Amino acid sequence: MLVPEPAEIVEKRSFGPDIHAFSLRLCDPAARPRFDFLQGQFNMVYVPGVGEVAISISSDPDDPDLEHTIRIVGRTTRVIDGLQVGDILGIRGPYGSAWPLQEARFKDVLVVTGGLGCAPVTGAIDYMFRRRANYGQITLLHGVKKPADMVHHERFEAWRREPDTKVLLTTDQPDRSWRDRSGVVTELFDEVEIDPGRTIVFICGPQVMVRYAVQHLAAQGVSKGRIHVSIERNMKCAVGLCGHCQFGPEFVCKDGPIFPFSRIERFFGVRGL
Ligand SMILES: Cc1cc2nc3c(=O)[nH]c(=O)nc-3n(C[C@H](O)[C@H](O)[C@H](O)COP(=O)(O)OP(=O)(O)OC[C@H]3O[C@@H](n4cnc5c(N)ncnc54)[C@H](O)[C@@H]3O)c2cc1C
Repeated sequence: MLVPEPAEIVEKRSFGPDIHAFSLRLCDPAARPRFDFLQGQFNMVYVPGVGEVAISISSDPDDPDLEHTIRIVGRTTRVIDGLQVGDILGIRGPYGSAWPLQEARFKDVLVVTGGLGCAPVTGAIDYMFRRRANYGQITLLHGVKKPADMVHHERFEAWRREPDTKVLLTTDQPDRSWRDRSGVVTELFDEVEIDPGRTIVFICGPQVMVRYAVQHLAAQGVSKGRIHVSIERNMKCAVGLCGHCQFGPEFVCKDGPIFPFSRIERFFGVRGL
């Protein structure tokens, strides 16, 4: 379970200089069923001789290839940056909890994301649109610092054309190419009507965004048990052994990364946790 499985990069799509979506195909096709995943889960991506990083799976679970959208930030991802189609990586997983897509059936779904926080939710959004009749109003609020940080734009444009769907995109630093809103993502709440009794919320993004979003939603009457948040912590083993990702009594790798906010509220924002 802890041994990475070799996977070939079959596509590399770049969103600006430091974010790329890599589609990975297992070298042994017989291994693919072991990588069946639920939307929101992640894999550990291994660069031989360098290190391993936790990366959410951003593709639809029905796609045979596994897409990982990766921001280049440090030692391991800098090496991944230089990889091309045909190169081999190792992956192990899938790990962690998933978005509550069953609980969300026949309810309204509000998705609030910031920056690369959209990557862990894109598969879940695709899943809902492929079963459109099973979900009520779908609202997607997504913010980026600058237009160049916008990833999977084509997916948002396609979702925007779906019935009973509202997609609002915003940036802190609009330029002449930007056609949508400006400001921070939480300002988009002013344009959205929420029925607290029938809404399930998925949130993924920077901690400050999560805090403001939860505050706003709770003030609107949305129960914190219906607000699901994906959180990130440094992790090593990904199976609850090493303790790197411990968050209060929870291990983000195996109890999370997606939690109902009510479960983590006590620790959220506590310095050093
Ligand atoms: C469940 C989960 C899902 C993730 N999904 C994605 C994803 O879809 N795409 C993506 O680009 N990244 C994702 N990350 C973050 C990714 O794991 C880190 O960016 C990566 O480990 C950095 O490794 P590095 O060796 O390149 O950088 P390092 O050299 O280890 O560190 C560079 C900088 O990044 C910080 N850092 C390292 N790991 C993390 C982390 N886990 N969270 C926050 N900061 C970190 C370090 O403190 C340091 O400041 C996810 C993390 C988790 C826990």
